[in-house]
Amino acid sequence: MRTSTDRLHLTGLALTPGNQRSWWLREALAQDPGAECPPLNKDIKADVVIVGGGFTGLWTAYFLHERNPDLGIAILEQDICGGGPSGRNGGFASGWWDELHGLVTLYGVEGAVKACRAITTSIDSIGKFCEGNGIDAWYRRSGYMYAITVEANQRARDEMVALAREVGATEELYELSPAEVQARCASPAFRAGAFMRDGASVQPARLARGLRRVVLERGVTIHEGTRVTRLDGTTAVTPRGRVDASHAVLAVNAWGIGWPQLSRKLVAWSSYIVMTAPAPEKLEEIGWTGGELITDFRTSLRYFRTTRDGRVAFGGGGGRARRSVDDMFTHDARAVAETAEGFRLMFPSFSGVPIEDAWGGPIDVSPTHLPTFGRVGDSSVYYAAGYTGNGVAPTHLAGQVLADLITGADSDNVRLPMVNAKAMTFPPEPFRSWGAAVVRRAMIEKETAEEHGRQPNFLVAQLARTPRRMGYFLGPD
Ligand SMILES: Cc1cc2nc3c(=O)[nH]c(=O)nc-3n(C[C@H](O)[C@H](O)[C@H](O)COP(=O)(O)OP(=O)(O)OC[C@H]3O[C@@H](n4cnc5c(N)ncnc54)[C@H](O)[C@@H]3O)c2cc1C
Repeated sequence: MRTSTDRLHLTGLALTPGNQRSWWLREALAQDPGAECPPLNKDIKADVVIVGGGFTGLWTAYFLHERNPDLGIAILEQDICGGGPSGRNGGFASGWWDELHGLVTLYGVEGAVKACRAITTSIDSIGKFCEGNGIDAWYRRSGYMYAITVEANQRARDEMVALAREVGATEELYELSPAEVQARCASPAFRAGAFMRDGASVQPARLARGLRRVVLERGVTIHEGTRVTRLDGTTAVTPRGRVDASHAVLAVNAWGIGWPQLSRKLVAWSSYIVMTAPAPEKLEEIGWTGGELITDFRTSLRYFRTTRDGRVAFGGGGGRARRSVDDMFTHDARAVAETAEGFRLMFPSFSGVPIEDAWGGPIDVSPTHLPTFGRVGDSSVYYAAGYTGNGVAPTHLAGQVLADLITGADSDNVRLPMVNAKAMTFPPEPFRSWGAAVVRRAMIEKETAEEHGRQPNFLVAQLARTPRRMGYFLGPD
């Protein structure tokens, strides 16, 4: 009997998700393992201690040093820098023009457009940073295509494009006809779509590791393998030493669900990526040679891009939400199979191409689908959280905002509306993680039924709509 593994042509490391690092990180480490950053084993002092060595922590350190090269900066990372989602993501450095609905509702047209323009600048700046620092992160600014895959998406596409028009950003986000979509990528699953200019692909782990090298060269101290168990004011406490600092930054992404300062702002959902063997000839056949980032319109978004050696990295939101960041975010064979199903559905001409890698990670979902940056109360603890699976470009902005807040710089960045914004919160536990798990599963079941031309179960459809009914900007209307 053919198992789903055979049918989906899952092979090799795709069968052992979580047992090895992401394909991106293995590739980056093979190219340059980087200098050693041993665990903290004594008490030290710093001006700023940063908890978390992903993009947020690394960019914050980079911009703090830019603002004031005399600052003593220490990053504490429980794993290795880039070992979390920053070295595992899809590598979409994408804009916010598709987030206009939430941005305009929360911050008005002017604030929304300013925020979108700030992200445009970040996308460009990431490319310049790589170029200026000898980081070959495969940066390619080819734009972002949305593809309609079911009739129900049509309205979402129309509203998104209309809103861009209303705020005067027609050149940033515009409609694509079915023929225009097919010309960029000829999948039989795609109907019409939309195109957003703001989109660059990166090899995310090369970017994270390159950033690590640059901040180390500038004198930032990094201790990897060092888990911060708590903050005592602005002193970071770890099992074998403390960092006594004047300012602390929580750059812990989805692990924030376990920190009292952040927990009500977030739920953690999983996302998984499958990667094919190289198949450049298949990409030629379907005309997907322009390097576009592509997604569908699902809430449990499917996102896909190509690599330099002609692979497809195909991601999908996994169906789990948890109370803590555990193995389900990395070892979930069901989520891998669901992601692979999506790939096989959209790319039938790749049926002979094996999927040879798979990995997953947590995403920090906020009630508004957008991050906030700021200060915890009137303490000297700062945070950036709630990227909701869209952090590659926004973490660059977050790093600048946090560096400006800490150094007291009066910049346009600190006047952005999501800085020190009053955050919408989720219900307390146990309702938060239980509700998130049930609703997430319902969203996936509803969207999968629609994709197969079936009417979603009534109860499932109602559950999927719960977040919108509670005033959150998540899931279907
Ligand atoms: C599968 C997947 C695909 C994604 N695809 C995209 C995409 O294509 N485009 C996009 O924009 N975004 C994407 N994202 C989201 C993106 O990866 C994140 O928003 C971004 O990496 C956030 O960076 P960060 O530094 O805040 O978090 P992270 O990279 O998660 O860094 C946080 C770090 O904190 C460390 N840490 C946590 N707790 C502690 C502690 N107590 N002590 C010490 N260290 C601690 C963690 O180990 C981790 O390394 C994706 C996410 C996933 C999981």
